[in-house]
Amino acid sequence: MTAYDRENIFAKILRAEIPAARVYEDDDTLAFMDIMPRADGHLLVIPKTPCRNVLDASPQQLAAVMLTVQRLSHAVRKAFDADGVTLQQFNEAAGGQEVFHLHFHILPRHEGDKLRPPGKMAEREQIEADAAKIRAALAL
Ligand code: 5GP
Repeated sequence: MTAYDRENIFAKILRAEIPAARVYEDDDTLAFMDIMPRADGHLLVIPKTPCRNVLDASPQQLAAVMLTVQRLSHAVRKAFDADGVTLQQFNEAAGGQEVFHLHFHILPRHEGDKLRPPGKMAEREQIEADAAKIRAALAL
């Protein structure tokens, strides 16, 4: 498998070289808003240590990420009064992956809704407002 690229965009977010709307972090993981949300509250959860995806992740990286995914799934459900939550995760280009640092998408869902098409940037104010809602739900 291709080696981990330390210049990928999420590695830059981890090093705070580019901004992100961060909503949660602990020693092992970081959660921040997707810049092109397919639903209001669309979040990404990543490990703080390098791996491309599930195929090269250690059991410890996967365990830490999944604990944060569950915590944030509860938070987005509360924050957006969602009926459900969709998780997405892609591995390698053939599997649909575009950024090669392991990440899980968390998408709050409402009965009958459809995900927005990919690739459309949201307004920064909207992303910040959604991030604030999730931070507030985490604090409850
Ligand atoms: P995937 O690799 O799972 O196919 O998609 C990568 C995801 O990262 C996409 O949902 C895309 O919108 C998001 N993304 C790409 N570049 C950035 C960025 O610079 N900042 C943030 N917050 N999200 C990004």
